[in-house]
Amino acid sequence: MKVYKFGGASIADAGRMAALLPIISEEQEPLLIVISAMGKTTNALERIVQCAVNKEYPEAYKLGNELKQQHLEYAEKLLVADNYAQTKGAMEVLFVEFDEAIKKADSKRFDYSYDQIVCMGELFSSCILHGYLAQNNLSTTWVDVRKVLITDNTYRDAVVDWNWSALQAEATIGRELKKKKIVVTQGFIGATAAGDSVTLGREGSDYTAAVLAAMLHMDSVTIWKDVDGFRNADPKLFPGTVKINAISYAEVIEMAFYGAQIIHPKTIKPLHNNNIPLYVKCFLDKKLSGSVIKADAGDVHYPPMIVLKDKQVLVQVTTRDFSFITEDNLSKLYSIFHDLKVKINLIQNAAISFVACIDNRDDKVTPLIQALSKDYKVTINEQVSLLTVRHFNLAVVEDLTKYHTILLRQETRKTLQVVMK
Ligand code: ASP
Ligand code: MG
Repeated sequence: MKVYKFGGASIADAGRMAALLPIISEEQEPLLIVISAMGKTTNALERIVQCAVNKEYPEAYKLGNELKQQHLEYAEKLLVADNYAQTKGAMEVLFVEFDEAIKKADSKRFDYSYDQIVCMGELFSSCILHGYLAQNNLSTTWVDVRKVLITDNTYRDAVVDWNWSALQAEATIGRELKKKKIVVTQGFIGATAAGDSVTLGREGSDYTAAVLAAMLHMDSVTIWKDVDGFRNADPKLFPGTVKINAISYAEVIEMAFYGAQIIHPKTIKPLHNNNIPLYVKCFLDKKLSGSVIKADAGDVHYPPMIVLKDKQVLVQVTTRDFSFITEDNLSKLYSIFHDLKVKINLIQNAAISFVACIDNRDDKVTPLIQALSKDYKVTINEQVSLLTVRHFNLAVVEDLTKYHTILLRQETRKTLQVVMK
């Protein structure tokens, strides 16, 4: 059995969703569908969160109502009278929850409030897809994934309780699949044991598909995208990219970790650990061959794989008393990053200094600098980019860096990374 994951672009409008029908109905076996929010819904929900926590209620409800209306109009374009009424009924239950979440939003519990509101996008879109498949005589069940993926309470980046969730997955989704149903559920969201909604990190629907595939021992995951497969660099940023037909988990996890946008970095681990292949296919033309990500096929020769991550900050930490950056200081520094949950993209240390490249997130950078400044001298370079090239050759690197100032360069046998301005 397969998992199909459809991202926001694949359901950006009603026409797009309708075009998925042949892809879904062609599949002979029961299917698990994991879906994102439509188009840019998550961004719209984030704006509502901002208004709601600032207690700007008229604006929050205005934006909220617009979003509800958009979803209802979308559903109306696809569904005939009875099906529309049924879907609308299901959505109205969610609308009540949505309004309630706006009302209760609190800046003192920002991440919690964020998740109660932002989780709505996937719930809405999955309701509509479920209604549409049912209307087309496909035997379909809608599952609220918040009853399946049980997590801790790290709001906005929740950690799945694997054992508990696996049992839930079997009892809900697994049971429906055994009845030969198509199960439609949401990516990106889950809930705590207490039943509060959580999200798994932006663009986290890929991860949901992988987690559920692993828990339910599925044969494969297919991510349907608007591109023809996996490429050696982002074609929006670099000319002359090449498609890669088959690529190993190890290669993709490196690229995703350093910022390749194609797949959420957390997606690969559950697939690798259960040896489940991941297909990247194009929803605009299902006949295109796409790419597969799977166990290492031996001595594959890869072209230079390029990832450019913008919006980085280079943080340089120096001891004030000229003490060395050895075990004691390193341990202290790592604990500060760990306690503030700041992910380090690149690290280097010298005698009395330590340099880390991190994402430029205001909510992370400011507290980090405050914490580090207590015991160290801290200097930062903002607006830098992290360029990673795997399987590099020097001509490619020269070409990519020629108009930039290089602040830091690190090289291993396979990978070259530079932080540049
Ligand atoms: N809708 C969420 C987001 O845009 C999750 C996803 O698309 O994977 O971040
Ligand atoms: Mg998305």
